[in-house]
Amino acid sequence: MDVYLDNLTMEFEDITAVNRLSTTIKDGELVSLLGPSGCGKSTTLMLLAGLYKPTSGDIYFGEKNVTKLDAEKREIGMVFQNYALYPHLSVLKNIMFPLRMQKVPKKEAKERAIEMANLVQIGHLVDRKPGQLSGGQQQRVAIARALVKKPKLLLLDEPLSNLDARLRLEMREEIRRIQQEVGITAIFVTHDQEEALSISDRVMLMKGGLLQQDSAPQEMYRKPINSFTAAFLGNPPINFLQIKKTEKPRTFELMNSSQIVKIPVNHEKERIQLGLRPENLYVTNKEDAFITGEVIHLETIGRDTLIRVQIGEVTIRALIDPSIDINVGDQCHLGINQEYIHYFDVENGANLE
Ligand code: ATP
Repeated sequence: MDVYLDNLTMEFEDITAVNRLSTTIKDGELVSLLGPSGCGKSTTLMLLAGLYKPTSGDIYFGEKNVTKLDAEKREIGMVFQNYALYPHLSVLKNIMFPLRMQKVPKKEAKERAIEMANLVQIGHLVDRKPGQLSGGQQQRVAIARALVKKPKLLLLDEPLSNLDARLRLEMREEIRRIQQEVGITAIFVTHDQEEALSISDRVMLMKGGLLQQDSAPQEMYRKPINSFTAAFLGNPPINFLQIKKTEKPRTFELMNSSQIVKIPVNHEKERIQLGLRPENLYVTNKEDAFITGEVIHLETIGRDTLIRVQIGEVTIRALIDPSIDINVGDQCHLGINQEYIHYFDVENGANLE
């Protein structure tokens, strides 16, 4: 089922939690709502669920305007961070619960619950109580319970935040598998950019109630619409360097340092904010250098070495090949492929390309 949001707005007294949000979520897509705390993700989800009614704007499920429709009539499945299982009921009864509420006969409810338990791979645990399960298993029960009524839309509110790092990885792959197997349209709220980028067909990045960018994960990463998006995605984060124009074309000076930087395009702006991702920088020789500084920190992270390089008053991070012989205190020339350089407006952060 397609979902359309048309200028959706939610005000709480003096706060606009969601501000004129418009988008289309296509049938079978998994879309992440991503953004820092307080950006309006959960409010958007509550509006979709029908637990809040918007101040203005409309929500359509397919052709149908559901803005005023009550939550229980929306045919939605929800999964929460804290699983919200009934502790005194067995796994099977937890999964059957929504069907029993709908007065589905016991035998049929049981069959459908078992089918769901198998789908989420907890078929062997149906007689246990939630307290006898791991966090990941409990989340599987919650997903089965959310899907058992065959809803048209699945809403997931930070479903992985209570799990440890390894389980989080496993469960995000599982959520994606289950969502694709069922073919359900899903909206996934998270503040974790890596999670959003890895799990989704599309990411909606919000800030202060406003949608910043709405695109496929790779596009958002490669073509951030502004410096907020660029900074929110990526770990270690993107480096920003301010440069100012000199007399010569394509030649700028680094702010707070007399170092000269040559860029491949002629920008009219007096000053520009450059964005350089740590993984796009590499150690090179003086001739090929884009910028030069002193290594002030070095550590091994996984398969890469992370260095911090002091350039005038700013430090930048680069992820480099661990076989390179470089030490703290060394002078370091860093190169970058021109296509990876991002240019942002110093005042409003807009991508200048
Ligand atoms: P988090 O990641 O911390 O859950 P979020 O992105 O989900 O944040 P929301 O919970 O949607 O953000 O909140 C958006 C804004 O609306 C915040 O400023 C919040 O304080 C405010 N807000 C949310 N719910 C209410 C409410 N019931 N009454 C008043 N203000 C609210």
